[in-house]
Amino acid sequence: MVVADAVGRRLRMERRPIPAPGPGEVLVRIEACGVCGSDVFLLDGGFGSDRLPVVPGHEACGRVEELGDDVTGLVVGDQVALYYISNDPASTYVRSGRPNLGPGVRRMGVDLDGAFADYVVRPASTLIRPPAPVEPASLAVLTDAVAQEARAAELVVMPVSTWVNDVRHDDPGCLAAPEPPRLPAQTTLRF
Ligand SMILES: [Zn+2]
Repeated sequence: MVVADAVGRRLRMERRPIPAPGPGEVLVRIEACGVCGSDVFLLDGGFGSDRLPVVPGHEACGRVEELGDDVTGLVVGDQVALYYISNDPASTYVRSGRPNLGPGVRRMGVDLDGAFADYVVRPASTLIRPPAPVEPASLAVLTDAVAQEARAAELVVMPVSTWVNDVRHDDPGCLAAPEPPRLPAQTTLRF
């Protein structure tokens, strides 16, 4: 795995034992992990120097390697995307369908060790099994770099031409697009 020790330090390789999943958890063998602007922000101390040391990496997918007790709906070998946020399942935010909000939020790769690693243990509730196989490099970034923009567009029903043509593609959280497509003005995305 790769460790970010402190602000201003280079990333460092480290070997650790493969972790074991507890009740309700799953051991995932990582197949791909995106490198996000947020990772640079983390290394620059943007989340706070007290977040380090940590294993970065929050846009990941892989294969189910081992199931903890009480896990249902997944089998060893399943392809899964790792949603990087976990939360207290009893919180009002989670129960109202907003697991990304509230004081119980824990971000993989920021508050907890992330997926710049061969194996990660995650709560089964944070794993998303695609309906059909997806190329790993694409599936990995869906959980953050694509989901953020899709959700924002869903909330505001913005013209997709604004999203595609005018958003700075080097912003953290935006997909890199060397030659972004141009769309007619006022092309609207609706969900
Ligand atoms: Zn990201």
